[in-house]
Amino acid sequence: MKKLKFKNIIISLLIIALIIILVFTMTKNKDKKLEDLTNKTLNEVKEYAKDNKLDLDVKYEYNKKIEKDKVISQSIEKDTIIKNDDKLTVVVSKGKLDNKVYSEYKVNELGNVPIMMYHRIIDMKSSDTKYTGGNVDVDGYNRTSEAFRSDLEFYYKEGYRMIRLIDYVNGDIDVDLGKSPIVLTFDDGDESNFKVIGKNSDGSLKIDPNCAVGILEEFKNKYKDFNVTATFFVMDGLFGQDEYNEDILKWLVNHGYDIGNHTKTHVNFKTATSSSSQEEVGYIYEKLESIIPGKYVNIIALPYGSPGDKSHPNFKYALNGTYNGKEYNSISALRVGWMSEVSPFNKNFDKTFLKRIRAYDNNGKEFDIKMSFDNLKETKYISDGDKDTVVIPKGKEENLNDTKKEVITY
Ligand SMILES: [Zn+2]
Repeated sequence: MKKLKFKNIIISLLIIALIIILVFTMTKNKDKKLEDLTNKTLNEVKEYAKDNKLDLDVKYEYNKKIEKDKVISQSIEKDTIIKNDDKLTVVVSKGKLDNKVYSEYKVNELGNVPIMMYHRIIDMKSSDTKYTGGNVDVDGYNRTSEAFRSDLEFYYKEGYRMIRLIDYVNGDIDVDLGKSPIVLTFDDGDESNFKVIGKNSDGSLKIDPNCAVGILEEFKNKYKDFNVTATFFVMDGLFGQDEYNEDILKWLVNHGYDIGNHTKTHVNFKTATSSSSQEEVGYIYEKLESIIPGKYVNIIALPYGSPGDKSHPNFKYALNGTYNGKEYNSISALRVGWMSEVSPFNKNFDKTFLKRIRAYDNNGKEFDIKMSFDNLKETKYISDGDKDTVVIPKGKEENLNDTKKEVITY
């Protein structure tokens, strides 16, 4: 009798164990893993998405390796467990990126790049100034908010996409096929560049929608593919708002903008001593390091564009020197320029003395915006959409510098 009872217990336990294993494997089978979809055809992927109840979104681009209509990449990594209604985006090849495509888009990565120079953005209508176009002063150093908005609209429509100054300097130009890079810079750290009008309930900065950054943020939302960014060159007073200055710097570097050096007091290197030159530059790097350590760019915008000549004995202090017992180094120096710069792949590229375009109006004369962009129509940098290659039309090879990237001529 006792023996039989023991047998029954064993059998019951075995049955329970079996049920547990069965339930476990059944639920396990429900966890489906996403396949690697690379190189599958769009039709195959559509079937797959339907079978697995995935919400499919398709994007297209040219590619160097993957044939037309086949998948280049997927938004969800392979082997990820998939759930119903997961949103899956696949990038499908529009065809091979070849000479025909390069010709069609007139790709030229030895073309020129505009580095725009702005100062103050004044919130007024252009018709209310006494000066030409969107100029707020006789020389057009300051611009109306209306004109700044129309500048951005114009750059976008002309196929320009913003890149960071530091990326241009380093030759890391990442814009879509057929588009052209543009760099925005602001000198002097004026209040109108980033005007704080209080704080939001969550403690974040409330930004005046008509200051430079307010307008840039407006365009960030308006054109997602504009890649909105800019570099701001500040002095000792930063953005002129004692209460918010440090928060502004942090906000900017956390939102894809950059901060550079415009010297402590807007020094004129031509007339400064060697020690004051070094103090002017080193002081700002030290200040930035204390507020946003490691997050600013080692680039200087030369006040007054001075000295206009690299052979001036003080020019070297814009780049290298010692202040407060510490060495400082700038990768680049920006001039108060008048025209676009060459491609970073051009043998004449000199990142220590970069030209800029003054963003002002002068009826299409004297290197104003219109004249500069008219000139750029034939000479601008046009991307192949791949930042790892340098694509140039045949016959331009002699202008190429030494680059580690793959060079393609067509
Ligand atoms: Zn300045």
